[in-house]
Formats: sequence, structure tokens, C-alpha cells
Amino acid sequence: MIGEFELIKKLTAILEDNSIGDDTAYINIDNKVSLNITCDAFLEDVHFLRRYPPESIGFKSISINVSDIVANGGKPLYSLISLMIPDDIDERFIERIYEGVKSASLFYNLKIVGGNISKSSKLGIDVFLIGEVDRFVSRAGANVGDDVVVSGTLGDSYAGFKLLTSKKQYEEYELRLIERHLRPTARIDYINHIRKYASASMDISDGLSSDLWHIAERSNVVIDIDLNKIPISRELRLYASKENLNPYDLALSGGEDYQLLFCQKKEHFNPFLDNTVIGQVVEKGKALVLVNGKELERTGFDHFKNRQ
Ligand SMILES: [Mg+2]
Repeated sequence: MIGEFELIKKLTAILEDNSIGDDTAYINIDNKVSLNITCDAFLEDVHFLRRYPPESIGFKSISINVSDIVANGGKPLYSLISLMIPDDIDERFIERIYEGVKSASLFYNLKIVGGNISKSSKLGIDVFLIGEVDRFVSRAGANVGDDVVVSGTLGDSYAGFKLLTSKKQYEEYELRLIERHLRPTARIDYINHIRKYASASMDISDGLSSDLWHIAERSNVVIDIDLNKIPISRELRLYASKENLNPYDLALSGGEDYQLLFCQKKEHFNPFLDNTVIGQVVEKGKALVLVNGKELERTGFDHFKNRQ
């Protein structure tokens, strides 16, 4: 099967539109209204399992879309939701998904204005989200000399997913990793910073290694990352040492962290955010990602291939 990213390239070639390729699409109407729009399907057995708490399924389906809006400097406003419902599901389960949707809409201060329901063989929730944006920040603006910055810590969600699917009794730190997988929070606290200072930005949904490549390719720059600077949580360190894994591998290839990856001038570092400088943009004119001086392998999540 063809990979997800090759397929996107083929489809955008059919549409003959080079503007496609960011987390959200930018729309400007008569120089009066600037919006960014996005949609993301959240599907049973691809993105979640039916035994997950239904409220978390609803909450996460909204978070992953808000994360894209925020990544481009937007503020989420309105949403439409399409539900795909199999026959073997009870009504209460769907209501509980919507309780999660409601708490996400209150948390992110957005309004669900409509949607649609259809029958399906698997459960799915497809969210369309619209935001307002006064400066759209794409993946394409990284400049030589910029710092490369990430929010939060990376790799937690993947560890949480592994724990959820491998055991039933958990320690406190394991529950925190699971929470990061089940109920990620989009970084709305970064909206102003991204809008004002980021030269290029995206959210980390597929995994840092492939997302760094997305910025390098769209901006046509060489990014040089220092592996030891990648922020790792205390919980992930505990998990990795117990499982005999390298926490940096998990942070690079895990995916679904819904943190932000952005570039900015050095002087715009914000000490009041939980952000970390992990490297620099060192050259323009070709796309390459180096980690500790060596080309970085893309090990992130591709929906059409198996998760490693
Ligand atoms: Mg994204």
C-alpha cells in the first residue's frame, strides 16, 4: 500500500494546488475575514479502541483538530461533527462520546454548530473545525538562524498507548502517560506566541522525526537537532527504563503528542511557556534534517502502514 504522504502528494497534484500542505487551510474573503479550516477523522481501530472511555474519544476528536488550528496561529471558533455509527452500539455510548465533545467545546471555547450521522461498519467521529487567524503561520517560513522549538514533552502518548494495550493494572506514573494518550490537550496557551513570533509551525501528530521533515521540506531548509535537548517527561523516563527502551526513540517516533513544533528568531524565546529549543535552522536551499550531525530517519506514524 502506498504511504499516506505519497498519496497526499498524488491527490494534491490532481487538484493542481500547491497551497495544500499545512495543518489547516487558510481562507481570506475580500481582505475582510481570515479563517483557517481543518477536518480530521477519528476512527475505531485506527485511532481508538471501543473499550476506551467514550468521553475521552469525544474529547480527543476535538483536541486533534484544535491542535491543527492553533499550530497555524488560529483561534478555534465553530465545529461540525459527522458521526459514523455501527449497529452494535448502544445509545448511551454515543451520548457519552458527546459528553466528551461538550467538555472539549467548553474547554476550548468553541461552538458545535451542526453535523451529520450515518451508518457504518465501524465507529467514527469526523470533526470539521473553523478558526479565525490574523497571521497564518504555515510550515514554509523557516529562516536560517531560527531556533527550532517544541512545546511540552514528547513520546508520552505512545507510551500511554502501549500501556493501555498491554496491561490492566497501572502505577501512578503509567496512568499519567495513559491520560496523555486518551485525552490530549491542544496547546491553546501558545496561540498568541505562535501568531506573533513563529516563522513556521505545525503540530506534532505523526511523530517528531517525520514532522521535522515536513518543516524542512516545506521551508526548504536544513534543520540541525541536538538529540539530548528533546524534552522527555519524568514519567516517560520511568517507562523507558522499565521497558529497556530509549526514551529519545519514543519521543522521535511516537506520535499523537499534539505538541507544537515551530521555528522562531532566537530573541523570541518565551521563558513563561513550557517550550524547549531543540536545534537550529542552519541552511536554506535544500531539505534535510540532521540529528547530532547525522541524517534523521523518518520513523513517525503513517496511517496506511503498521505502527512500529
Ligand atoms: Mg497537524
